Amino acid sequence: MSRFLHLITALSLLLPVVFSRAAGMAEADAPVWPGKVYVLAYNPAGAPPGIRDSDVIDGMIAAADAWATCGVKVQFGGYTARKPDGLDGYNVIGWLPDMPGLLALTEPRQVRRILLDADINLSATTVRTRERLIAVIVHEVGHGLGMIDHSPNPDSIMYERFASRGTVKPTAEDIQRCQARYRFR
Ligand SMILES: [Zn+2]
Repeated sequence: MSRFLHLITALSLLLPVVFSRAAGMAEADAPVWPGKVYVLAYNPAGAPPGIRDSDVIDGMIAAADAWATCGVKVQFGGYTARKPDGLDGYNVIGWLPDMPGLLALTEPRQVRRILLDADINLSATTVRTRERLIAVIVHEVGHGLGMIDHSPNPDSIMYERFASRGTVKPTAEDIQRCQARYRFR
């Protein structure tokens, strides 16, 4: 199991510095979804004002588009009242009122490199605009798909300071990296 902590400085909302920590897992050991499908349901409870359900759906569409070239599918699993936590085999994206210093927290849970559950928690304090929301979802879905490490390339979806750039289009390296994970048929 691993956790990603995306930290945002309290000093600047315009140019947030986002850190992350991927604990205890090397990229070579990163897990995958069998069937190459990642289904995410949305729990709208606690969404900040100004964020509409359709913005979250658009974020998932952007994530699906971004990672489609890799051969994986990101699917909307409908609305849910389930919380985005726990190992229940049900992937939920939802909101927490505040995670001090965090933009989002994705928790992929795996056994023997097979993903079982990857919930995405968004911070209702730091993710308050549609533009940032979409960039955050595209990035977090990358973690949810098993892309564990961040890229040093500022153009990458998986760049750790992604939120300050609004990056939603994958680089060739992003796709190659994803395909290396999902190369089985
Ligand atoms: Zn990250």
